[in-house]
Amino acid sequence: MSHPLVNVEEVKIPDITLIRDVNKHLLRGHRWIFADCFNDNTPTGLAVLKSRKESLAVGLVQADTQLRFRLLFLCEEPYVRMNDIPATILKWADIQFTRALQLRANFRTEETNSFRLISGEGDGMPGLIVDIYNDTAVIKHDHPVCERFYNHAGLAERIQCDLPYIKNVYYKRRNDDEVKGVDIVGTLPAEVLFKENGSFFASNIRDAAKTGFFLDQRDNRKLIGQFSKNKTVLNLFSYTGGFSIFAAHGGATEVTSVDIAKAAIEASTRNFEVNNLHTKHNAIAADAFAWIDEQIKLKNKWDLVITDPPSFAPNQKAVETATAAYTKVFASSLKLVKGNGLFAASSCSSHISTDMFLDICREAFSKTRKKGTLVYMGGQPFDHPYPLAMDELRYLKFALFRVD
Ligand code: SAH
Repeated sequence: MSHPLVNVEEVKIPDITLIRDVNKHLLRGHRWIFADCFNDNTPTGLAVLKSRKESLAVGLVQADTQLRFRLLFLCEEPYVRMNDIPATILKWADIQFTRALQLRANFRTEETNSFRLISGEGDGMPGLIVDIYNDTAVIKHDHPVCERFYNHAGLAERIQCDLPYIKNVYYKRRNDDEVKGVDIVGTLPAEVLFKENGSFFASNIRDAAKTGFFLDQRDNRKLIGQFSKNKTVLNLFSYTGGFSIFAAHGGATEVTSVDIAKAAIEASTRNFEVNNLHTKHNAIAADAFAWIDEQIKLKNKWDLVITDPPSFAPNQKAVETATAAYTKVFASSLKLVKGNGLFAASSCSSHISTDMFLDICREAFSKTRKKGTLVYMGGQPFDHPYPLAMDELRYLKFALFRVD
């Protein structure tokens, strides 16, 4: 292959020195160190992590951010040669990529051709996301340092070598960046059609949220399909109608999708079309909070209500207000569920733990003087793995309740 997976041309890799003893934390498998553990000004880029004059690890430094150091590898790994760090990094990248691929080796089927190939720290590659949508691969990063470190041409070559059905590799930048993305291989079509558990989805990847779709709700969407037969289903914060399509395929009598983003609601209509579904679908572009209040006043109710809001807690500081916001929206959603109906609640905030999430649900039921039975508790699927020592990366919570 003509390009490496990562760029390691830095002449001298600087040191970054710990002022706190967090060695145990790394040795146990955690991969992040925050700014308060350092007092030096190591520039953005590769760095050797020093603790008591010993080299402990090699990682990526992002200057001027709280999340200052992201681990690539510990120096104790058997393949590490500290006298040749560039060669070691190339070896490391190859090992991580190969292992990520092995984990997903049997994943692509007739029914599902969309999955996450590389899931950042969960696959040992900090800040790198690679999602596969049928014949299109989408690369995305969450830190500027990653944009410099990962070699997109090298990644594209490797993706096409291991997954020969991939025709396009697109690098998606932030939606508010001037240049939204770059074609690395091929040309990203205006619409990419892919399959998930037998359902079709069309995505305008260039303008879509994240890499094009919320792949992480895959298992939970399938579950909703299994509970939708002969039911009226309300999908709040529906985005492009993922849960709605599964509800319709599962035999729902009527589906309502509500999202504030007009483009997402239009895409949900398109997704009904590409599945050739004729289920009655109410596609509503509206602020869900105000819309829910209106429906409560109108005394409208559904057999199954799904509430999957955006993250209310972008950081630790926001946890308290987020807890209140989740409780409120879950409680008002519960008012829209018929007696003996079903309610699915979800949170994608990494700062809300599973226990906190269940407490929020308990409080929402209690506030509305309803009782709930937990039917199913789910999370992110197996193509979104996370290091056992990093519980904060177990970010997706999904619970299905019967409303008693
Ligand atoms: N359940 C979806 C993902 C939902 S992501 C799926 O399976 O694909 C959260 C969604 O909430 C986004 O689509 C965003 O546009 C929407 N959103 C954010 N604020 C909103 C509001 N005030 N009212 C309605 N939708 C909102």
